[in-house]
Amino acid sequence: LEGLFIFAMKIITTIAEMKAITKELTCCGKSIGLVPTMGYLHHGHLSLMQASIGQNSCTIVSIFVNPTQFGPREDLATYPQDAAGDEEKCRSVGVNLIFRPSASEIYGSHYQTFVEVNQISNHLCGKSRPGHFRGVATIVLKLFNIISPTRAYFGLKDYQQVQIIRRMVRDFNLDIEIVPCPIVRESDGLAMSSRNAYLNAEDRIHATGLYDSLKTASDLFTAGERRSSHLLDVITTRIERIPDAKPDYIKIVDSQTLEDIEEIGDQALVALAVRIGKTRLIDSIILKNN
Ligand code: AMP
Repeated sequence: LEGLFIFAMKIITTIAEMKAITKELTCCGKSIGLVPTMGYLHHGHLSLMQASIGQNSCTIVSIFVNPTQFGPREDLATYPQDAAGDEEKCRSVGVNLIFRPSASEIYGSHYQTFVEVNQISNHLCGKSRPGHFRGVATIVLKLFNIISPTRAYFGLKDYQQVQIIRRMVRDFNLDIEIVPCPIVRESDGLAMSSRNAYLNAEDRIHATGLYDSLKTASDLFTAGERRSSHLLDVITTRIERIPDAKPDYIKIVDSQTLEDIEEIGDQALVALAVRIGKTRLIDSIILKNN
């Protein structure tokens, strides 16, 4: 076990081996940080790893393109992958272990058990991607059971996901600290995402309109605007100017319940999902009184 901390990063593919290692780590009092990912890693993922490395004696990155969170017409079959590049990136920041199981290792045959986090899953992406968060909550609970992390790191890029996982941890009395991490952006403001790889050169340029629109709303909020309807109009107008863009949703919601709000109080979340060409992108920003 000591080797884990001295020698090169290890790649684990079986649940049995992963459990044996984490059991030993836990027994000798080591803290474990888990960073769940679907691979094709970028700086957003690396920022989660760095946060974990700073707070835990061992950092484990899971790489698993989870079939149960993809809808039948979604991009499971084409989701980008780069096993060698991912390993290199994990190694470069000092990750101790990669857990990279196959789908059959995780779900075997006749898999039947799923986790549903109600209410909070009914809004935003949950509405447009039925079953998505059921798949997310299920895989995250399975990873928590396999790895028994002290802390788990999630990006606010997927704001609703963070709230759902927090709810699940409370509801199931899990002793795991959920650590939300800020959105990492490209220099032109586009939120980093593995799916950005789908964008062609033109769409990539147009995609900056998403964050532009959120920033404009945020600036208006800072200047005193509190009516959601007005801010939503401004964002929608900006998005409509993007060629080939189709909004899935553009919402201003309570940052805890994710329910629509009309008049913004101390805090709100502006969240959007927009299809640019064939690529569905999400982004969000918190509006907060100083
Ligand atoms: P994914 O591989 O897309 O499932 O993402 C794995 C984790 O990385 C999730 O917790 C995401 O929220 C997080 N993540 C993805 N992109 C970013 C980003 N641009 N900034 C911060 N975290 C991110």
